[in-house]
Amino acid sequence: MTTGLATAKLSSENLPVLAVLVGFILFAAVILIILFMLSRALRALRIGAERFASGDLTQAIEVDGPLQVASLGESLNKMAQQLGDRLRTVIEQRNELETVLSSMVEGVVAFDLDERILNFNNAAEQFLGMRVSDVIGRSIHEVIRNPGLQSLVAKVLESDEPVEAELVLTLPAMDPADMGRTTYREHFLQAQGTALRDARGMRVGGLIVLHDVTQMRRLEQVRRDFVGNVSHEIKTPISTIKASVETLIDSGVQVKEEGVPDFLAIIVRQADRLNAIVEDLLSLARLEQEGGVNHVDLVLGSVQSVLRDAVETCSSKARQKEITIELRDLDDLQAHINAPLLEQAIVNLLDNAIKYSSLGCVVELSAELICGQVRISICDHGQGIEPEHLPRLFERFYRTDKARSRAQGGTGLGLSIVKHVCTVHGGHIEVQSKPGEGSTFYITLPMASDSSTDTIHD
Ligand code: ADP
Repeated sequence: MTTGLATAKLSSENLPVLAVLVGFILFAAVILIILFMLSRALRALRIGAERFASGDLTQAIEVDGPLQVASLGESLNKMAQQLGDRLRTVIEQRNELETVLSSMVEGVVAFDLDERILNFNNAAEQFLGMRVSDVIGRSIHEVIRNPGLQSLVAKVLESDEPVEAELVLTLPAMDPADMGRTTYREHFLQAQGTALRDARGMRVGGLIVLHDVTQMRRLEQVRRDFVGNVSHEIKTPISTIKASVETLIDSGVQVKEEGVPDFLAIIVRQADRLNAIVEDLLSLARLEQEGGVNHVDLVLGSVQSVLRDAVETCSSKARQKEITIELRDLDDLQAHINAPLLEQAIVNLLDNAIKYSSLGCVVELSAELICGQVRISICDHGQGIEPEHLPRLFERFYRTDKARSRAQGGTGLGLSIVKHVCTVHGGHIEVQSKPGEGSTFYITLPMASDSSTDTIHD
């Protein structure tokens, strides 16, 4: 009885302890379960994040586990989806760019600020006869040795504006007629360069686009040779015709009858005209030839003496029309010139001024220094030129009034020659004119400077 009472007392005393123990065990079990689930969810997150980091954004993280962890998993999945979308857009844009670059007939070469090649497109590979994988990272000058390209690359890296140049590169070409042996050929390339910038607009290098104009240059050469050769061939028969007719006239042969035109005089006049055209065509062909291959020698000389010689040459024509040529503001300016060519240009302009002025007019000739350049002006007070003709005035055979020009013995080539002469001097020509009041032609030439060379390269 005492023992039974004691047991009952013990169990009623131990009950709270037991309850605490059971509670603790339950609590520990719950904590363990939570820790287990948390660790499993975190492991899944870690594996998923590692997968995203390795570039596999296709498989989403399976999100289960405690609320905070699940929402972290969802955020990671959302981020991966957005990254995937952006990556796809970037890849699409890159593919489009590559398609455009590889289908271009122009060669494209990109280089960094250290002038090392970043990329080449297919056309550039073909032009230059080298594979992009062999040249990436190498200095552009080590790969393509060319002084023109070297200065273009330097200009592209300095300038904010697009830069242009014509390059002549000697490039390898496979010769199928010679068992595929590599031969070397000259290529004329029109090059346009521009700065390469990153997304923030910072200059990171340059880009050069190369357009092969070799074929065009060859055709131009063929045309120039053709005009030159034909003109030479025509010159001899014209001289013979003229000499024969003049002999007939001198020997007193009469083909002139009442009411019948003087055929011999007509033949002489037309032979002279033909001769003038041929002379002008030959001058143009020579100018194009020499200008094109940089052969025009320019030496430091007096502009004033060229103008005086030109006036002298035109004085007889001026006298015939009682026209006075006044030399004004003639400072003794020095420029790098080719005196015979410059004189020919001034004579052409004075000749026009005389031709298109009325009897007794004045033609003014002056040379001044304006904005560091020599400006020669030839001003007449003749018939002037309608504004619609001005833009085309320097084209070959362009005449405002064909009949009048022919009647005056014009060839329609005089101003074309003047323009070419200005170009080979590194200068330009402009005109201002008012119908009925007269015209002024301005030739602008670069002023002599110490850095100038005697031969220009255009
Ligand atoms: P042309 O031999 O016919 O004079 P140019 O090339 O020298 O050929 O001139 C082209 C045309 O420009 C001329 O036919 C003429 O119509 C016009 N022209 C040139 N100079 C003058 C001028 N000083 N005054 C008026 N018209 C001019």
